[in-house]
Amino acid sequence: MRNTECVVIKIKSPTKNKQQWLTSMADLFLQSIEIGLVKSKSAKTSSRTKLHPIVYPEAKSIGLPSDYCRMAVNSVVSMLRSYEQLKKVQHNTSFPKINKKRKWFGLGTNAYAIENKNGNFILRATTQKCRKFIWLPLCVPDKFKSKISNGGDAKIIQRGQDWYVILPVKTEQTPTACSGEPTFIGVDLGIVRIAVVSTPTKTIFFNGQSIRNRREHFTDLRKRYQKHNRLDRVRQQKGKESRWMTDINHKLSKQIVAIATQSSNPMICLERLDGIRYRIKKSKRFNRMLSSWAFRQLLSMIEYKAMKANVKVKMVDPRRTSRKCSKCGHDENSNRKNQSTFKCKKCGYETNADRNASKNISAVGASLYQQGLSDTARSRPQGLEQTVAL
Ligand SMILES: [Zn+2]
Repeated sequence: MRNTECVVIKIKSPTKNKQQWLTSMADLFLQSIEIGLVKSKSAKTSSRTKLHPIVYPEAKSIGLPSDYCRMAVNSVVSMLRSYEQLKKVQHNTSFPKINKKRKWFGLGTNAYAIENKNGNFILRATTQKCRKFIWLPLCVPDKFKSKISNGGDAKIIQRGQDWYVILPVKTEQTPTACSGEPTFIGVDLGIVRIAVVSTPTKTIFFNGQSIRNRREHFTDLRKRYQKHNRLDRVRQQKGKESRWMTDINHKLSKQIVAIATQSSNPMICLERLDGIRYRIKKSKRFNRMLSSWAFRQLLSMIEYKAMKANVKVKMVDPRRTSRKCSKCGHDENSNRKNQSTFKCKKCGYETNADRNASKNISAVGASLYQQGLSDTARSRPQGLEQTVAL
């Protein structure tokens, strides 16, 4: 059985010309996706067979090389699919948008090759011009050297000033994989406690109190500036707050991945973002907290850092994870006594509510894994949720 995994490899500091090429490719690619999304809206379809003949020529006409057009169409289709699935859970889900500041592009299997010159790996990508290539030397860590092979769709992304390639690596897997069953690490994200991480042996709490205080301080300041019509200060304040949050997310995601790497063959189980919104009470204050708290950023940082550390990530549907007993499986709304305490009505198990939730999240991840569902499976909730009538 073949199983596809990915590794993130840094591109060795590209020259000015190469940086320009990477940037222009990302711009063309994202522009093509944008065109695709508009077309799908007007044609009212998300079908690949219908979208391909409409989007492909448009992408080509703005200058995206044909080897890259297929990937642009694929990206449009997968964005539409997850949008449609999300909409079933949350009706006010907005139509997918492209964030042009986050630069990336898809690298189809025909668009590149990896060459190994005496242990130095170079990515050769096709360009706009026929039979003209661009050569991008890679920084491949020793542990990945034997895994790098050719073939499979890849992706190039920019993080900060650096560029990375996300490469699929093929690993042969026998039914009795030598690495054995993964260790499932459940991560519960929230407002009161920013994150609760549970491993089979321990639970780690990341308290959100100081973060909440600081955020309230920011909000107060902003209100004061607004009152005095100091819009320049308001803008300044916003920038400051967002840099501060990014910094916190960096630290938090780093720590979560570090905890995971202490276990053998770890797999981080994360709740999907739509689930967090679904789960957290819809009070005005919470909504404000949630919309401005960069959960999406935190999730993507965890995913990205996990990938870099060769740690697998599974996204799970967190519905019912805060109500269900992680000991006996009894599922009842009144199991959750209050914000912080969980007490099972059936077996009497009493514990911190977030610990209970994070354990359930890792259990959902484990059950998804055993059923062999893909990480991004957005099918009806499986495992823990099976007993729930929707
Ligand atoms: Zn119980």
